[in-house]
Amino acid sequence: MRTIFVTLKKTLVLPALAATLFTACHTANNEVVDSGQLAADSFQLSTKSDDNSDFVAITDVVPDVILEIRYYGTYNFVGTRIDGYLQPTALLTREAADSLKAVSDELIKQGYRLKIYDAYRPQMGVDHFVRWGKDLDDTLMKSYFYPNETKDSLFIKEYIATHSSHSRGSTVDLTLFDMRTEKEVDMGGTFDWFGRESHPDCGGNPKTGEWRRNDTITAQQFASRMILRKAMLRHGFKPYDCEWWHFTLKNEPYPDTYFTFPVQQ
Ligand SMILES: [Zn+2]
Repeated sequence: MRTIFVTLKKTLVLPALAATLFTACHTANNEVVDSGQLAADSFQLSTKSDDNSDFVAITDVVPDVILEIRYYGTYNFVGTRIDGYLQPTALLTREAADSLKAVSDELIKQGYRLKIYDAYRPQMGVDHFVRWGKDLDDTLMKSYFYPNETKDSLFIKEYIATHSSHSRGSTVDLTLFDMRTEKEVDMGGTFDWFGRESHPDCGGNPKTGEWRRNDTITAQQFASRMILRKAMLRHGFKPYDCEWWHFTLKNEPYPDTYFTFPVQQ
C-alpha cells in the first residue's frame, strides 16, 4: 500500500531559522549544494511516502561492504540512537545500491572495502536532529564532533536542516577501509565532523585532484579522498560540497520524495 501525501516545504521551515538557512557551507567553487536542504523562499512541492518496496538492504546487493551505522548506536553527534533506526542496517533504492556495487567491485581490486556510516534516513531521524539542534543545552558530544562550533550555529551553517537528501533513499555516507592495514583509511577528517576539514575542497581542488599545501589535510589524505570520490563519480554518484563522505545518485529515482518508513530489514 502506497501512502503519499503532499506538503509544502515552506511550512516545515523553522520560522526563526528561515532567514538564515541560505547561509550555506558553500565552498570555494560556490556550487549549489545538494543535501536536500530547504530553500526558505521556495514553495516547491515535496512528497512523502512510506512505501519501501523499491528499497534494498545494501548488504544484499553489495555483500563486501562494512556497516558502521552510527545513528543506530550512540557514537554520533547527538549521543543517542536516532529515531527511526530500528536495526543496524543500511537501505538504499535498488538503483543506488546497484551503482554502489559497481563502486565496491572497482575499489576491491585496489585493496579497499567500502565502510557505510549511513544511507536511507527516515524523515523521523531528520526530525530528531532538528529537535536536538534546537535544544541548545544538549552538548553531550560537542567535544567529539563540534568542539569549535556553538550549538546555535549548526542550523546557520547547514549542518542541521529540516530535510536531507538521505530521506530520498539514494544518498550514502561512506569511507574506505584498507584491507592491507585492516584499518579505516585516514581521510584527514572524520564522519560528521562539523568543521571545514569535512569540505572536499579543504585540502585542494577535488575536480582536478590537485592537493593544495595547507595545515590540515596532507597530500596522502587528500589523495585518499580522491580515490573514493573518483570511484563514486565514475559510477553515477554526485558529491556534496560540505562533506567528503556524502554522495547522491545523480539520476536518483525519487528526487522529490522524502520517505518515512523506519530503517529495518
Ligand atoms: Zn550524508
